Amino acid sequence: MHSVAIIGAGISGLSAAYYLSKAGIACTLIEARPRLGGVVQTENIRNCVIEAGPDSFLSAKPWAMDLIRELGLESEVIGSNDHQRKTYVWKRGRLVELPDGLQFLVPTRIWPMATSPLVSLPTKLRMALEYFRRPRVAAVRDRSVTDFVEEHYGREAVEYLAEPLLSGIHGGDPGQLSVSSVLPRFVELETKYGSLTRGVLAERRTAASNGVRGLPLFRTLRGGLGRLIQAMTDAAGAGTTVVYKPVESIERTETGFRLRAGEDWLSATHVVLACEAHQAAQITTGLDSRISSLLASVPYSSSMTVALGFDRGAVKNQMRGFGFLVPKRERRRLLAATWVGNKFPHRVPDSLAVLRCFLGGTGDDGVLRENDESILASVREELSLIVGLTAEPLFWKVFRWPLSMAQYTVGHRERIAELEGRLEAIPGLYAAGNAYHGIGMPDCVRTGKLAAESIARKAGPC
Ligand SMILES: Cc1cc2nc3c(=O)[nH]c(=O)nc-3n(C[C@H](O)[C@H](O)[C@H](O)COP(=O)(O)OP(=O)(O)OC[C@H]3O[C@@H](n4cnc5c(N)ncnc54)[C@H](O)[C@@H]3O)c2cc1C
Repeated sequence: MHSVAIIGAGISGLSAAYYLSKAGIACTLIEARPRLGGVVQTENIRNCVIEAGPDSFLSAKPWAMDLIRELGLESEVIGSNDHQRKTYVWKRGRLVELPDGLQFLVPTRIWPMATSPLVSLPTKLRMALEYFRRPRVAAVRDRSVTDFVEEHYGREAVEYLAEPLLSGIHGGDPGQLSVSSVLPRFVELETKYGSLTRGVLAERRTAASNGVRGLPLFRTLRGGLGRLIQAMTDAAGAGTTVVYKPVESIERTETGFRLRAGEDWLSATHVVLACEAHQAAQITTGLDSRISSLLASVPYSSSMTVALGFDRGAVKNQMRGFGFLVPKRERRRLLAATWVGNKFPHRVPDSLAVLRCFLGGTGDDGVLRENDESILASVREELSLIVGLTAEPLFWKVFRWPLSMAQYTVGHRERIAELEGRLEAIPGLYAAGNAYHGIGMPDCVRTGKLAAESIARKAGPC
């Protein structure tokens, strides 16, 4: 008789539970927090949809959207307001608009880049000359994002494009992050074309000729991503038993595994480690020390979001574009801030405005230990400096996410390949989550689904 335990009920663990239930396989979902969803959490304050963690997912990756379709939530999907997408970067005391035509950090239009005050003339010339780079003959080892971007576009592009753009996604240090794991598409373009700019332009021509265009960059659900968690929980249904306890250890037995959670022991023939890798490392110390140390080798950064709600009339002059990024070179506390109602429709009533601020990241984990009032004071001081925003918020709320963002540092792929080889050698043990093949929600859904499919192949329906 097969039995399945999933440790961690974030989007990854819930995806595993949902796809197992679809295959007719019951499971026990064990979660340390008193609620499901992990870092996905939506609150409604004064009719504003406030995302405490992720606010959307990339359209280009299909797995979250596939899941949404299966759950019958397609009619609730909304896209980002791309037609009014403008993002600013804080540079030497003023907000500078990111030039049009940037594909992430790759410039594809000459005039907006040439006239932008974001980077200096030598960097602009370097960016223009990058177009003529030829593919390398010899294979290149994994490099840091800093080395990669600097090689293509120079140091200033690292400081004012790569670092601020990536800190919003990974909360990490581009000098440590692995380019093969964090920007794999750009590494492929480099291999094929030499020049990233030429590669992106060629890809775009191919996409246009195949009719693949027009999707919004980000998608989400009208009522917030908490809807997805609720729908997954409902769909996982009676076959899924939820236990709210932290798992402390896992041991092998003759028939599979036994898990200790407080005073309780739970037996299972299949176990999905769907918690953060640092937690999985602790749980597996007694099971396999190499698996545990490979899991522990994935560093995590902590992050924090602070939502502030204002009377719209009091801030309308400050509400420019989607928001702004603060490069590390210029940084004090804020990493970035988003005007929620500008980025997505249906999120904020017309009379109000919500600004979502991001703090933490590698180098400022300490902010999570500060009390809410002191955080609010720092945020307001910096908002006053950066956007001239001095209005009193009508409401505000701080959300803390300790050690929640996996950092794919140089050599990540090789370490994860070794980890997966070792996991395969222990029948019935699987890992899912943001520590392995992508930090975004679609990749997390995919890892949960893959774990469920592997179990279904071995177990068959109950
Ligand atoms: C502030 C923020 C903004 C983000 N924005 C976006 C975005 O806009 N788009 C996007 O695609 N991605 C975004 N991400 C990334 C994405 O949301 C996460 O990578 C993803 O949701 C992680 O899901 P998970 O299930 O792997 O992990 P988690 O959500 O971290 O869930 C792991 C779960 O395991 C539980 N757990 C831990 N230890 C144990 C234990 N011993 N026993 C039992 N349970 C345990 C935890 O309590 C937790 O609930 C964001 C992340 C953060 C923090």
